[in-house]
Amino acid sequence: MKVLKFGGSSVASPENIIKIKDIISRYDDRTIIVVSAFGGVTDDLIAAGKLAENQDDSYKKILEKIEIRHLAAIKALLPIEEQSKVLSSVKKELNVLETLLDGAFSIGELTHKLSDKIVSYGELLSSFIISEYLISQGINCAYKDSRDLIITTNRNDRITVNTEKTTANCRAYFGDSTHEVIVCPGFISKSENGDATTLGRGGSDYTAALYAAAIDAEILEIWTDVSGMYTANPKMVKQAKPIAHISYEEAMELSHFGAKVLYPPTIQPVLSKGISIRIKNTFLPEAEGTLITKSKNEKGKTVRGISHISNMALLSLEGPGMVGIPGISKQFFEVLSQANISVVLITQASSEHSICIGISADDVSKAVAIVNEAFAFQIERGRIKPVIPETNLAIVALVGDNMKNHQGLSGKMFSTLGRNNVNIRVIAQGASEKNISCVIEGKDVKKALNALHEEFFEENIKQLNLFVMGVGNVGAKFLNQVRQQKKYLKENLKLNIRVIGISNSRTMVFNENGISLKNWETELANGEQANKSTFFDTVNTFNYRNSIFVDNTASNEIASTYDMYLGNSISVVTCNKIACSSEYENYNHLKELARTYNAPFLFETNVGAGLPIIDTLKHLIVSGDKIQKIQAVLSGSLNFVFNNFNDTTTLHDIVKQAQEEGYTEPDPKIDLSGIDVMRKILILARESGYRLEISDIMNESFLPKESLNADNNEDFFTSLKKHEADFQKMYNEAATKGAKLKYVAQFEDGKASVGLQQIPKGHDFYNLEGSDNIVLFYTERYPDQPMIIKGAGAGADVTASGIFADIIRIGNF
Ligand code: ADP
Ligand code: ASP
Ligand code: MG
Repeated sequence: MKVLKFGGSSVASPENIIKIKDIISRYDDRTIIVVSAFGGVTDDLIAAGKLAENQDDSYKKILEKIEIRHLAAIKALLPIEEQSKVLSSVKKELNVLETLLDGAFSIGELTHKLSDKIVSYGELLSSFIISEYLISQGINCAYKDSRDLIITTNRNDRITVNTEKTTANCRAYFGDSTHEVIVCPGFISKSENGDATTLGRGGSDYTAALYAAAIDAEILEIWTDVSGMYTANPKMVKQAKPIAHISYEEAMELSHFGAKVLYPPTIQPVLSKGISIRIKNTFLPEAEGTLITKSKNEKGKTVRGISHISNMALLSLEGPGMVGIPGISKQFFEVLSQANISVVLITQASSEHSICIGISADDVSKAVAIVNEAFAFQIERGRIKPVIPETNLAIVALVGDNMKNHQGLSGKMFSTLGRNNVNIRVIAQGASEKNISCVIEGKDVKKALNALHEEFFEENIKQLNLFVMGVGNVGAKFLNQVRQQKKYLKENLKLNIRVIGISNSRTMVFNENGISLKNWETELANGEQANKSTFFDTVNTFNYRNSIFVDNTASNEIASTYDMYLGNSISVVTCNKIACSSEYENYNHLKELARTYNAPFLFETNVGAGLPIIDTLKHLIVSGDKIQKIQAVLSGSLNFVFNNFNDTTTLHDIVKQAQEEGYTEPDPKIDLSGIDVMRKILILARESGYRLEISDIMNESFLPKESLNADNNEDFFTSLKKHEADFQKMYNEAATKGAKLKYVAQFEDGKASVGLQQIPKGHDFYNLEGSDNIVLFYTERYPDQPMIIKGAGAGADVTASGIFADIIRIGNF
């Protein structure tokens, strides 16, 4: 015989119940079918009981909802002529349920016994309706109430199954039955005195395992809403995969640490009989699922899965009275056990000064009260401190039979968490060495699971989560480049790039599954109103690992938000020069935040667009070189102007042309005055290790005062016209020497300057075309022949690719 258990979601609707019939029809053997309550009904019954206990009559509404749902199922599943008999039985049961709830309401009390009785209606009703449906489909099916078979013993409100009696009952009943299919309710049982009892939340799995063990079933199949036991909860980790084969012990550890797909007590009965469990998906029956058997000691498989439990709390018992006095921990655990509080994790400092345990947050107030009461005597005398609870925590556990044979797993686990800025509160390793678990803050659990999953299961595919601010010229080109390269990066660099948020100055949009890079413009246009604080809050609340904020704006306001991102472990990539050329204090603060919070802060495109100038400089410095001198032409706009200005043109006309063709800022004075170049050389000097402010940079402008002081573009251009003779003179002086005019930035001996220079033939700067940039690094290792970087230093495409390169650098970090 086989035992098949169908969980809450598998029986949640008439359509799903029809699927179950199709599954059963494929079996030739006799089967026992154990079913849960229709999905959500147990929760409803618990809620109704609590409301009634608090004398809140809205329990009636829940009852009504339960009634509608069950009656509708009967109508949908059964032929009309068979409905009335089933409807009247179910209505009768619902009336009893109502009487029970009314009773709790009128006395304002809900005993354990009554509560168990109330919740048992979920499985009673579902199993009855399903058995009637199968019979109506011509299946040779019987219905058996599990309360006649599973007998429990009750000690201190703790239910344990009386295996002997249960086994005897099951053998007698199932042995005698000649039906092909026997449908039984899961979860419910009966005490030795005949009271209704239950086997704990998720207990239908256990019911099925008890039957399987009692009758020596060929296999136990758990049919649920996922295709097996996964490497991590698939609802939290998208990349999680079903585990094809796993040992009983591994499955037990995973379920103990929160893999809800299997109720932990389920394993024991079948393990002792060596009966395999297969977890299958009701909604995808052809999927292989997970097979759970004795350990096969498969080589090479160390970590089999990652589990987690949210809603955890820690309790610490500490004080001088703990040292050397036997029995304190015994008493501590006894008190908790008597109160039925289950301890998920224990750590004790070797100093014996404290014991720390992990329990469900739901048990905290009860636990604190009883522990403080039990140790009242010692607390009063200052021997022990009142117990300290900590909530909003979660446990994350790595599980695997072979973990004990491998060194460095815990190191890898903790460094992965550390790198992602997940704070670890407590660490515990199971004595069996089949698990390593740690307690972290609840808010970090999704990030921790995904980071660990990536580390241990994903062939090093790393996911980068981008939040893009600014989609003008550069931003739009950047998104386009990401779209083109996405597949290549995934296949070749094992980087999976997702753009999760996009904003311009008007609207912003987020999509946790990644915004379509084909339709981002429409999605953004339909987004919510842009707001830089809300944007940050959203990024921070998502709390994804490898989050990167990309600033493609030139905005002061946006530059002032970097500290929030970096301070929350979110990397920043920017082409906006404002932050790095602001006060040294601020620049340095951002660099420090980046170090402290493990979040790269990259701004390669601040100098020379996509040219690898800053990155090269960094490599020189970290490898021990020292910068002696930097000489550079760093302004695409000024290059354009002085490459085209000669004695047949006027400076006025060339600047006008540059402005019209988009080579200058809308306010051309910013370029012509040299401010932009000052910012760039400042950043290079700082990156070379010097503490410099913008005011330290010498700037002997070639512009007359009148032009520099112009309030608007019109006045500026008029002043250029007026001083044309001076500009011609500048040109001629250079031309007669065979030299060209270039706007040069220089840094030497800790001092920086910018200004127009006459560059003689043969100089590295002489043949600089169009908007090209060039940088010469004179260093200890390159003292005479400098290291030269040269190429297009302006333009949206190359700037976008520079941003992209920074993002890949983070990916390879
Ligand atoms: P049922 O109602 O069928 O008993 P449950 O909700 O109890 O189903 O268990 C299935 C759920 O367990 C899945 O939908 C999934 O969200 C959760 N789950 C948690 N951890 C895991 C895991 N490691 N593998 C598969 N499912 C998991
Ligand atoms: N219906 C019960 C619950 O929701 C038992 C089960 O589904 O396994 O906990
Ligand atoms: Mg379950």
